[in-house]
Amino acid sequence: MTGAVPDPLPDWLSAAARITVLTGAGISTDSGIPDYRGPNGVWTRDPDAEKLVTLSYYVADPDIRRRAWLMRRDMGALDIRPNAGHDALVGLERQGRLRTLITQNVDGLHQAAGSTPERVLEIHGTVHEVECLGCGDRTSMDDALARVAAGEPDPACLVCGGMLKSATISFGQMLDPAVIEAAVDAAADCDVFLAVGTSLTVHPAAGLVDLAARHGARVVVVNAEPTPYDDVADLVVTEPIGTALPPLLAAPA
Ligand SMILES: [Zn+2]
Repeated sequence: MTGAVPDPLPDWLSAAARITVLTGAGISTDSGIPDYRGPNGVWTRDPDAEKLVTLSYYVADPDIRRRAWLMRRDMGALDIRPNAGHDALVGLERQGRLRTLITQNVDGLHQAAGSTPERVLEIHGTVHEVECLGCGDRTSMDDALARVAAGEPDPACLVCGGMLKSATISFGQMLDPAVIEAAVDAAADCDVFLAVGTSLTVHPAAGLVDLAARHGARVVVVNAEPTPYDDVADLVVTEPIGTALPPLLAAPA
């Protein structure tokens, strides 16, 4: 029931034609994306850093905004590339078996690996774009960081002069209803719901598992640590993601 990837795979998995996948931070740690919430996480060690991604602090304090742009600049300078886990999900799409790829990650690594952008739902947004909190205008993070490098510590919207922020969902900020609706549809309409590298403790992502199960999908959880949904799952794999996904998502014989 728990642990290794079963060999052979159960028929319901190897024959599944419509798989919805939910990914969380665990799939990106192998790529060098820092962990934020874990025991040695960025926010655990420096609670002040969490203010950088909390909307009320961001809006109220120019110094928080200045520090947030520098954080984006420093993150952008890291050599971050997709890994075997991302590649396995590209493979699943090429087999024609990927219904939808829902991700809690904001790093854009699924698209960088080759997943079709239209098939990826970024429920927490993306660091690769910035959004004006006033008029909603969207531009690229690269452009904003170029302005920071050129001496604007807190660049303003070029359309309306409003406040710019990375197009990520900060704490205290509404999720995009259209993205959530699409994620709900994808969970309710699949043969298999595969949750990868997510602790399944943050809603609405966690609720998608229940939804999928209620609609008759088989549930697979791939996570190093136990999740609250392990009892709901038909299969729980605790192997590292990079070694578990390739055999788990192997093309049907
Ligand atoms: Zn604007």
